[in-house]
Amino acid sequence: LRANFVYLKNENNQVKGLILVLQDITEHEKLDNMRKEFVANVSHELKTPITTVKSYTETLLDGAMEDKEICSSFLNVINTESDRMARLVSDLLQLSRLDYKKTSFNFSRFDIDNLIKDVVNKLEISFKEKNHILKLGLNDENIIINGDKDKIEQVLQNILTNAIKYTPQNGIISVDVKKQKKYVLISISDNGVGIPKEDIPRIFERFYRVDKARSRDMGGTGLGLSIAKHIVEEHGGDILVQSEVEKGTTFKIKLPVGKNVDM
Ligand code: ADP
Repeated sequence: LRANFVYLKNENNQVKGLILVLQDITEHEKLDNMRKEFVANVSHELKTPITTVKSYTETLLDGAMEDKEICSSFLNVINTESDRMARLVSDLLQLSRLDYKKTSFNFSRFDIDNLIKDVVNKLEISFKEKNHILKLGLNDENIIINGDKDKIEQVLQNILTNAIKYTPQNGIISVDVKKQKKYVLISISDNGVGIPKEDIPRIFERFYRVDKARSRDMGGTGLGLSIAKHIVEEHGGDILVQSEVEKGTTFKIKLPVGKNVDM
């Protein structure tokens, strides 16, 4: 609390009263600290790839270019790091548009099972690369959602990509869809590394990662879950998580169903 006071005096300069203003600055300070932390995080995330790109380029210019093999391996690193920066900037732009409500949501009615099938097909190569088994528990009930299809696709993609990333080779990933009264519940489970109990409440925070090095190795930006949560909340839904270290993780996406079932 910040206190400011003013004396009320009469014409003889005698104190007749006092006005005390108490101001709650905790919320303001909290926001200010969050902003500072965010800027520090962004700078740090950009600094690492920039330093790498710069030093590899300098080494190439200093003569390493003569060796064809070194040249191509260095260029690959530069390419990977540039991709990382591009992903980071694109995720940041998306978050900022969501924050300032500048993202337009194109609502339409669509069948959630079909969307899940599309997303899974697009990720087929990633599943194969890690030799994961996919178990699809779709509901034949034609569950219709009223939402922004592209954005819900992105939510599913972010969470499924995480399941693939944070599960060692030969894992099992299941996707189940269930209707619960006015909601559809999409569960995405893996039997991967899991999330420690103390980290669970923080994983939706921007840049929060359980293991920074692992996330970076997997090409993550630390923003995927915050974007997903933002989008789901804009639809009047919610994302829940259950996890146990070395056993696996389940994300549950709860979305309101469209009012009319006929399209
Ligand atoms: P990242 O780009 O690091 O994957 P996210 O915002 O998508 O960022 O996720 C934040 C963190 O939550 C990850 O770094 C990871 O520590 C944890 N996480 C997310 N999904 C899973 C999962 N399926 N299994 C284990 N940990 C996960």
